[in-house]
Amino acid sequence: MKVPMLDLAAEWAEIGAEIAAAIERVLVSGHFVLGPEGAALEKEIAALAGVPHAVACNSGTDALHLALRAAGVGPGDEVVTPAFTFIATAEAIAYVGATPVFADIDPGTYNLSAETLERALTPGTRAVIVVHLFGQCAGMPAIAELCKRRGLIVVEDCAQAIAADWDGTQAGAWGDFGCFSFYPTKNLGAYGDAGLVTTREARHDTRLRMLRHHGSRHTYLHEEIGYNSRLDELQAAVLRAKLPHLARFSAARQKHAARYRELLAGAKLQLPVAHGRGAHVYHQFTVRLANRDAARKALAAAGVASGVYYPIPLHRQPVFEKEFGGLALPAAEAAAHEVLSLPIYPQLTDEQIQHVCRSLRACL
Ligand SMILES: *Cc1c(COP(=O)(O)O)cnc(C)c1O
Repeated sequence: MKVPMLDLAAEWAEIGAEIAAAIERVLVSGHFVLGPEGAALEKEIAALAGVPHAVACNSGTDALHLALRAAGVGPGDEVVTPAFTFIATAEAIAYVGATPVFADIDPGTYNLSAETLERALTPGTRAVIVVHLFGQCAGMPAIAELCKRRGLIVVEDCAQAIAADWDGTQAGAWGDFGCFSFYPTKNLGAYGDAGLVTTREARHDTRLRMLRHHGSRHTYLHEEIGYNSRLDELQAAVLRAKLPHLARFSAARQKHAARYRELLAGAKLQLPVAHGRGAHVYHQFTVRLANRDAARKALAAAGVASGVYYPIPLHRQPVFEKEFGGLALPAAEAAAHEVLSLPIYPQLTDEQIQHVCRSLRACL
């Protein structure tokens, strides 16, 4: 039996007719960049996140970049971010000329905590990018309180956590900016690159709209150097067709996670730690085990795909090693050696989950 990490063909088989109709609607309209689909998507995601403003852009990476630009973060500023995340989180900091400062993580949830964040703060810290990794919010009440006390800008990297919450407040509604990715493999995925920034402040909304469109808010009037980071209408329409299914798809991921927990109970590995204060949307179901690489090979031999997110923490990446390689972030380093993400997506069947668990148990 084959179990892939993700099966977008199975999703297409389920809701493809609705997506095809949405794509056709755009083709017929002849309107392809910055139009009614994108504007409607912004309203729908803002409502989902529970914030007044959302500005769509070209990717999750651009969302982080534009948020830092709109916040006025630049050269001379330090921006703290966890070392255990995707490279894009730190790239955005480099794009604006600021200095990334890598913090360690909570070893249970793999997220930044107020304690690990506080250890990384210096008088030069200007902003923090909190990452909600694997589909679960970081401990935002304590982090937001600390950042408020220190006068720090808070950017949330919500690329893996759309529709996750902590005590009812959604990912993207805690910070000054919430940055979403709609890369095809995310919980809400486009058919290409797409991203979006949420914010509570009208002035940030105005600035983000200018930045994504060549520094312009009136046709051929350019007030600053901006970018071409607009969302196209085809992607917006695909996302709008999928959005009504998101709650059901998140619930399916949660059901699969519960089944994994049941079938892997007592096995010689650590199951994901859920904080229990809100929805975990299981972008990944990540277990932890000492003989990770051997287990991964054995799973592959049984037809089961798996993923390692992430094998190298950012301070040990070649691009950052020279500057930060001496840093000791033990929780991030240990996680990089031991994490293994198992297949989880809405259309996964119970037979597939049983096969994954049987194959994994056999090699522990
Ligand atoms: C996917 C991802 C990004 C980047 O999003 P893109 O849309 O691929 O640019 C940033 N941060 C995290 C944590 C991600 O998972």
